[in-house]
Amino acid sequence: MKDNLKKYNTKRNFKKTSEPIGKLKSKGRKLRFVIQHHLASHDHFDLRLEANGVMKSWAIPKGPSYNSKNRRLAVMVEDHPLDYRNFEGVIPKGEYGGGIVMIWDEGYYESKENIINDLKKGTLKFKLYGKRLKGMWSLIHFKEDNWLLIKEKDEYENKDFDISKYAKSVKTKRTMSEIEKSNSLCDEIIISNPNKVIFQNPKITKIEIINYYRKVSK
Ligand code: MN
Repeated sequence: MKDNLKKYNTKRNFKKTSEPIGKLKSKGRKLRFVIQHHLASHDHFDLRLEANGVMKSWAIPKGPSYNSKNRRLAVMVEDHPLDYRNFEGVIPKGEYGGGIVMIWDEGYYESKENIINDLKKGTLKFKLYGKRLKGMWSLIHFKEDNWLLIKEKDEYENKDFDISKYAKSVKTKRTMSEIEKSNSLCDEIIISNPNKVIFQNPKITKIEIINYYRKVSK
């Protein structure tokens, strides 16, 4: 169990990226899932399903489709920490996965068994309770790290589904460029006269106020 996130941690320099450090956590009652739109060297969507204290993860180049005729390639990648489901922001250029990450969908999922058993069998069926993705879905293993994400036929199936129409974060309603801009405001802001006294009693300087805002903000 301890080594589940080792690969994740060794690939990243946490002094440079604001992604969370991989730590194992005990799971709650509901099993969570997230889909992160990741605009890196290749544009893709990352599906992550909670299992045994980590997020099992697949990179999906074209993203999910509500059309049951579409089989979407889903490449299994390293387990991610549970906290990763809340990550939205910018991974610095040159770092592993450098680019912009948006929370494209989030919620809970249900499956009959612990999906760890189904992973070994190579067939996963699960019901999503997301903001955008709902109903039954399956992941079918075909070779090496390659799986297929398929929408099962149910009342949620939608043959006209067009993923490009969903260009905003479900969490912050921001577009990719808005996420990118708000990140650069944080990291590249130039502070003039940091020691200027803003409040006299008690004496508080400009830099102290800025540091306070940085500390309390996400
Ligand atoms: Mn990714």
